[in-house]
Amino acid sequence: MKPCRCLLKQAGEQELAQTISEYISTLSPDIKASEDLYKERLEKCSECDNLNSGVCGKCGCYVEMRAAVKTNRCPSEEKLW
Ligand code: SF4
Repeated sequence: MKPCRCLLKQAGEQELAQTISEYISTLSPDIKASEDLYKERLEKCSECDNLNSGVCGKCGCYVEMRAAVKTNRCPSEEKLW
């Protein structure tokens, strides 16, 4: 199957996207990325060849979850965020 450079919602994974969104809502403001930072990170993931249906090919994480934690970084050599 052709890789889909899309996030979970666009991949039709509504239930999983909702679960991740609920998880993110429980994060303390101390560790949570700001809305702007989160959006900026996901925009970069959406343009990245390593993304496949919401999963990063470099680390196997759901990017919507990984990007929500302020101190997390993009795992690629290029450090896209
Ligand atoms: S390599 Fe970085 S930018 Fe690309 S999908 Fe993974 S986390 Fe996102």
